[in-house]
Amino acid sequence: MPKVSIRPKISNSKVANAKYIFVVGGVMSGVGKGITASSVATILQARGFKITAMKIDPYINVDAGTMNPTEHGEVFVLKDGLETDQDMGNYERFLNQDLPAINYMTTGSVYLSVIEKERNLEYKGKNVEVVPDIPLEVIRRIKKAGEVAKADIVLVEVGGTVGEYQNILFLEAIRMMKTENPDDIATVMVSYLPVPGSIGEMKTKPTQTAVRALNGAGVFADMIIARSPVGIDDKRKAKIATFCNVRSENVISAPDVPSIYDIPINFEQAELSEKLCHLLHLKPKKTTDLTAWKKFVTKSKKGIDEVKIAVVGKYFGSGDFVLSDVYLSVLEAIKYSAYNQNLQPKITYLSSQDFADGKKLKDLKQFDGILVPGGFGSTGIDGKLKVIEYARKNKIPYFGICYGMQLAVLEYAQNVLKLTDASTAEINPKAKNLVVDIMPDQKINLENGKMGGTMRLGEYEAVIKKGTIAHKAYGSDKIIERHRHRYEINPDYIAGLEEKGIVFSGVSPDKRRMEIMELPTHIHPFFMGVQFHPELVARPLSPHPLFSAFIKASYQNGHH
Ligand code: GLN
Repeated sequence: MPKVSIRPKISNSKVANAKYIFVVGGVMSGVGKGITASSVATILQARGFKITAMKIDPYINVDAGTMNPTEHGEVFVLKDGLETDQDMGNYERFLNQDLPAINYMTTGSVYLSVIEKERNLEYKGKNVEVVPDIPLEVIRRIKKAGEVAKADIVLVEVGGTVGEYQNILFLEAIRMMKTENPDDIATVMVSYLPVPGSIGEMKTKPTQTAVRALNGAGVFADMIIARSPVGIDDKRKAKIATFCNVRSENVISAPDVPSIYDIPINFEQAELSEKLCHLLHLKPKKTTDLTAWKKFVTKSKKGIDEVKIAVVGKYFGSGDFVLSDVYLSVLEAIKYSAYNQNLQPKITYLSSQDFADGKKLKDLKQFDGILVPGGFGSTGIDGKLKVIEYARKNKIPYFGICYGMQLAVLEYAQNVLKLTDASTAEINPKAKNLVVDIMPDQKINLENGKMGGTMRLGEYEAVIKKGTIAHKAYGSDKIIERHRHRYEINPDYIAGLEEKGIVFSGVSPDKRRMEIMELPTHIHPFFMGVQFHPELVARPLSPHPLFSAFIKASYQNGHH
């Protein structure tokens, strides 16, 4: 039997003076742990602290890029190209801050780097074991994220629910960190208190059970944020405090609210930042400053006039349910731009498959603007092409994102350039006119079956043409946007498309890649496609200029 080796202390690299808040989930998933955690980060930021936020996902997938969106929701791409969970988007939006790749990890990515280190002899011949080497790698990353961000506080959301086998090694990381630096770590459990219809009473037992499961892993909750349909009363607060070993002032009521943006404000009313500072032995740097956030929230409720936007995608239907999470960032981006113009967005989700036979196209007349978001594969393509043609011919403002741009160009090639077989290599690689083709470097990846993390990902620059809608919106000659695609407009067709009216108003600095297409305003009030994903950088406090231009044009269309 090999002997268990003695490990160095986990803090052999000096703990940069950061404090750490771990957010874990109890009882069940889907209660808004990500939004709760983002709101906690927001109110601490409002106390003058430098915050960075991390998400740990308990999947074997190395990143979120290979997961089907109907199973996992949207894939959120970070600035440096890592494909992550949509919670990273929540953090970036709430904190109005870009987050680096080190701030996201999955079980798969942690194991992968431990195995790679082992292969590189970095463990110097020692036994490499699940415990402690996996939690140690988790801890290394958490500390690294704090260092990179020079953060006062690192907030770490642990995916999944306590009691699952899947996240036990992450809880072990919390336990190890807490043992070494008890004053620097706080654990917050986001729990759920159901009010079963048949009983009509709020029940605390599931929360008690969840806390016990957490305790079984050697981790103790310092605070419980109790999500529930209605606010919790003092009696239940006291019960939770007694049975869950938490001071009653640290049991926080978080009932359902009409808008997620209210949550940071509600938390502040419960003096949450003060309580967390106390738990972490921190002195707040200033009194709460949520001025900008409150201004945004007020604006979000003020608009009386509606702007009606149809989002036409293929992922909406899931059995009997509608899944709008798949396009979460797009929906948020629409909202921010509408609120900023004192408008209430009325967003309707339409399944592209329903438009394939053309019968329902007339229904689109009622919308002020139409948006086709990103996507993959051939499902729903015919419907999307029909919708785009309808928007173009009926002068309904159109905004196409990624696939939505590629398809807008294909529609134009088919119907205006009369290249009837115009296609994308993604659907019909044998078509004569591959107006959208695979990028050369991506071809090599595909041939070698290298699918994960190999698309053109993350930030790339583009040069904007003067006198275009894009230039007016950005007010700049140069932009940087985030990408996620394998295919692009085939350079061989650009001259032909331009001759027939398409303006490529954004191109890569080497002029090879078409990043933005638009039609001149004398042909169409607003018809634009972008190869990148502007929705990923739209924030409550800084709406995206192209979404804003689209919303403005849509509102004008509906009210002329
Ligand atoms: N499927 C297209 C491509 O890979 C578009 C991708 C997307 O919309 N994100 O290029």
